[in-house]
Amino acid sequence: MKFNTKTIHGGQEHDPAYGSVMPPIYQTSTYAQSTPGGHKGYEYSRTHNPTRNALENAFASIENGNHGLAFGSGLAAIDAVMKLFKPGDEVISTNDLYGGTYRLFTQIFEGFGIKFHFVGMENAGRIEEYVNENTKLIWAETPTNPMMNIIDIKALAAVAKKHHLLLGVDNTFATPYLQQPLDLGADIVMHSATKYLGGHSDVVMGALAVKEKDLADRLYFIQNASGAICGPQDSFLVLRGIKTLHVRMQRHCENGKMVAEYLKDHPKIEKVYWPGFEDHPNYLIAKEQMNDYGGMISFVTKGNDYDEAIRIVENLKVFTLAESLGGVESLAGHPASMTHASIPKEDREKTGVVDSLIRLSVGIEDIDDLIADLKQAIG
Ligand SMILES: *Cc1c(COP(=O)(O)O)cnc(C)c1O
Repeated sequence: MKFNTKTIHGGQEHDPAYGSVMPPIYQTSTYAQSTPGGHKGYEYSRTHNPTRNALENAFASIENGNHGLAFGSGLAAIDAVMKLFKPGDEVISTNDLYGGTYRLFTQIFEGFGIKFHFVGMENAGRIEEYVNENTKLIWAETPTNPMMNIIDIKALAAVAKKHHLLLGVDNTFATPYLQQPLDLGADIVMHSATKYLGGHSDVVMGALAVKEKDLADRLYFIQNASGAICGPQDSFLVLRGIKTLHVRMQRHCENGKMVAEYLKDHPKIEKVYWPGFEDHPNYLIAKEQMNDYGGMISFVTKGNDYDEAIRIVENLKVFTLAESLGGVESLAGHPASMTHASIPKEDREKTGVVDSLIRLSVGIEDIDDLIADLKQAIG
């Protein structure tokens, strides 16, 4: 089955009870048993729920995995992955990581005795310097947020394989429409389904997909034992979102390209970060491992003035000033005052998050309205 069919049919069956085409929202915590243990595969909804299972099968299908798991948020999904490990284990992670993931690693799991190394992974060779007998996991995000660096997943998989490590990839920004980490050698692919998979800014959810049954069983055990599951209503919404993922992503990519090119030619713009430009430092890897370049774009204005950046994001009318990304509506954010405000200026500037950096999640509105909006706001 091709990807554009999998988003609609992958892992899905019509409901056996009445043939409903969409899985019903099984809003129930428990299931009747005819005799103790005599049930139809469902006992209690923390463990299994038919609506959630339909969604989990869809996750597995679109990521070319064999097993999917849904959680109450993206961070809950990463939390479950980290519970595979024990005190003394070490993890090598991308350095410009989603802030919430960094906080989870350093302020929760470091306290439980797991050691993290945050490494720039654009050169996969550097990772091996950090591998020792305690290393268990490589954790990567690509494209990175908000600088849109691209990391070579195949190269990471080679390092992971050589040293018998797990490789986990946060595929939130790219989605399986643009790249399939499991096919490139990753063991675990993770999503904040809050973003593109849900796609309508109406639900918070996380997902994992894996190929190996043993690994899946350990993760299912953690999902049930720790209990950070999502409810049937939200499962239904994300399942519905996934059905249009390919059409939405196609438009996100088309609009993203137009916006990136518009900004690149703008006399007031200093630099545009978007992996589809041939002069992007990781362009060749992006071209190789991605099917297209997505709708996430960051840019810096000439003069790098903090107040001017604030003025631009406040002036936008079609773009909404908000955190998050991946919905049908265009969003703009100012990392220095919003997502990265808690990081000292010196530290954030080392990774490129300067005062005038603005991040756009380009939506699927008419491109003319988006360009006109940027034009009036930047001036
Ligand atoms: C939003 C996000 C997360 C966290 O997901 P939540 O659903 O907000 O918990 C993790 N990684 C990336 C890349 C994200 O954008």
